[in-house]
Amino acid sequence: MSKFIFVTGGVSSSLGKGLTASSLGRLLKCRGLRVTMCKLDPYINVDPGTMNPGEHGEVFVTEDGGETDLDLGHYERFIDESLSRNSNTTTGTIYSSVISKERRGDYLGKTVQVIPHVTDEIKQRVLRLANDDVDIVIVEIGGTVGDIEIVPFVEAIRQLRRDVGRQNVCYVHLTLVPYLAPSGEQKTKPTQHSVTELRSRGIQPDVIVCRSDKDISDALKRKISLLCDVPIEAVISAVDAASIYEIPLVLHEEGLDAVVCRTLGIESDDHPIALERWEQLVRRIESSTRTVHIGVVGKYVNLPDAYLSVVEALRHAGFHHGVRVELDWIDAELVPDLIPRERLRELDGIVIPGGFGERGIEGMVAAAAYTREHQIPCLGLCLGLQVMVVDVARHLAALEGANSREFDSRTPHPVIDLMPDQENVVDKGGTMRLGAYPAMLAPGSQVFAIYGAGAVTERHRHRYEVNSRYRARLEAAGLRCSGTSPDDRLVEFIELPGHPFWVGTQAHPEFKSRPDRPHPLFRELLAAALERADGREPRLLDIGDLDPVA
Ligand code: GLN
Repeated sequence: MSKFIFVTGGVSSSLGKGLTASSLGRLLKCRGLRVTMCKLDPYINVDPGTMNPGEHGEVFVTEDGGETDLDLGHYERFIDESLSRNSNTTTGTIYSSVISKERRGDYLGKTVQVIPHVTDEIKQRVLRLANDDVDIVIVEIGGTVGDIEIVPFVEAIRQLRRDVGRQNVCYVHLTLVPYLAPSGEQKTKPTQHSVTELRSRGIQPDVIVCRSDKDISDALKRKISLLCDVPIEAVISAVDAASIYEIPLVLHEEGLDAVVCRTLGIESDDHPIALERWEQLVRRIESSTRTVHIGVVGKYVNLPDAYLSVVEALRHAGFHHGVRVELDWIDAELVPDLIPRERLRELDGIVIPGGFGERGIEGMVAAAAYTREHQIPCLGLCLGLQVMVVDVARHLAALEGANSREFDSRTPHPVIDLMPDQENVVDKGGTMRLGAYPAMLAPGSQVFAIYGAGAVTERHRHRYEVNSRYRARLEAAGLRCSGTSPDDRLVEFIELPGHPFWVGTQAHPEFKSRPDRPHPLFRELLAAALERADGREPRLLDIGDLDPVA
């Protein structure tokens, strides 16, 4: 029987609830427990797929094509499990399901209400994650207690403790303990209020994790313990860490996993913790002194969370090479000006990440052209591949005015175009090419060498594709379409022979990178960037020289 941990937040958003939940997941995995995770998001959107990444951050894509909250990326990276669309539920999903059941007559004439119909629907979605292969389901509830939309979710998780038995549920509440500089004090009042709010909904937390920029003293812990009615060892101090990957170690030091196990009746002695590999990773992160400079040319550069998995994948590659990755966020709209181009020259490598809409496109094409001409390592992700193809079309294949039909519906050369099945799509949500698709890599190509495999799968999220009518023309101009769909109809990877690293993929490999297992494309982008930094001749990859992707 699976047990459940519910993680709620109070006082303020952005306290790092997702990272706390993920870190706890890692610790429990290190105790040999089988863990899965999910996020309940109280907003009304059915999924974040239609939300502006500049406001909400990245949309994380699961293997099965779910467009999910970016916290699922943290979950996957920390617990090292691939999750599915079922791991993210929103008010929108709940209500659309309840309303279609009502229309079908499933409620047999009853008045449909928040309790029990909406809460039952929420509970079902949590319960379906439990099975014989899972010891612990960690459920993070988005938002903060006190939000108007969160009420049905809090009620559902309250009921669940009765449904599955007290010993099978642990409530973890994350709060902020602010430090007030003028009085030189840390304040517990916001924590008390937030716990009172949670209790008013019928939930007494078992563990309180206090986020703070300074350690919480024992005296303060005692106060929180007394006023919030939790044992002192269940008051956990979570200070800011230098790297997010250090958080599991910080929380373990504080005894979080031990107190959670105790609450759930899991004998710590039966599940001793094996943290060595994670500690090794953190030591490696801390010991890297050399820096490599990577530019990210995109349109949402004011909110780096819009590219969260790309950033993490770059960092993972840095861990592998023992270097720190310093990011230079470059607003694509500014690239056509000379100054940012000079900025590009100073970089060791660049990434052109995914995106939608016309803004900044010409700057991305200019960045692609600049890296191509100046032998700067460049990795194009999804939209990044598309702008690289536009660059080759315009500047090497003499296809004047070439563009993606997404940005210029009347272009004479739509080298990137909609697939016929996308032509008449009206619904914006969940209708792209989504999730894992296989690709075949050409023997002897750079990507074949990088992956160390001829067949790979990567996650996708896009409507447009390289137009096969132009493929021969682009290849004649020097582009190599080095990976395609198994039926050879869709271009999945491109590269430029003779360039140290100018590689594009129609997919989003960043979603599969893990801290201790960087994605090979990011790992080799960084290898090429380090060579550029050293002023060394680019190394030619040898097949068999690299670990195949797991
Ligand atoms: N806008 C492009 C498309 O839909 C690229 C999408 C992306 O980068 N994820 O094809």
